[in-house]
Amino acid sequence: NKIVVTIDGWSSCGKSTLAKQLAKKLNYVYVDSGAMYRAITLYFIRNSVDITDIKEVEAALAEINLEFRFNEVSQSSEMYLNEENVEYVIRDLVIAEKVSDVAAIKEVRTFAVAAQQKMGTKKGIVMDGRDIGTVVFPKAEMKIFMTADNAVRVERRFKELYAKNPNITIEEVKNNLEMRDYIDSHREVSPLRQAKDAVVLDNTNLTPDEQLKLALGWIKA
Ligand code: C5P
Repeated sequence: NKIVVTIDGWSSCGKSTLAKQLAKKLNYVYVDSGAMYRAITLYFIRNSVDITDIKEVEAALAEINLEFRFNEVSQSSEMYLNEENVEYVIRDLVIAEKVSDVAAIKEVRTFAVAAQQKMGTKKGIVMDGRDIGTVVFPKAEMKIFMTADNAVRVERRFKELYAKNPNITIEEVKNNLEMRDYIDSHREVSPLRQAKDAVVLDNTNLTPDEQLKLALGWIKA
């Protein structure tokens, strides 16, 4: 019997950390829906797609093949864009600066959501994103909505990005998180919302272990 766990919430509040922990513990498949929007954004940037031109957007989407492949070494699934491993490039701030505008386009969402719903037909699945509990799997067995204090989220994301690029500033990271949260929660098509039947998890003061215990308790209950 397929079980679906959805994790939605604000940017950089630990959704993927929790989703990975749960998938490992429950032996479910983890799907990072944000990686798909990031990969589409990467394709649009590389091919100079004018996102105000719907015909161009549609033509570009027709050329995009997204796939997750499991890496045995890192024991995690990685995003492939037209057969190329883009798991690391899509984490760049350059992508984060554009992704919310791309993800606000109706045609882009239709494309991504259809792919996500197909992934749900295998075994247990944990998927994180912004509209998973509201739009992608409205009938999911378990829905979690995550949040954390702004300063804590900025700090966590800054540390991650700084490790890859020491030129990055905390202001850039802060501005990016605020901008994405604003666009993601104000766009017309499936804006970021807490599903009515979602449980809220605020992990401002929780360690990864503590948040895992909490979520596992909900799933068993
Ligand atoms: O989860 P992550 O921060 O990698 O997502 C990057 C961006 O992709 C989000 O800021 C949002 O604009 C978009 N996104 C979305 N719907 C999802 C997942 C991500 O619109 N389900």
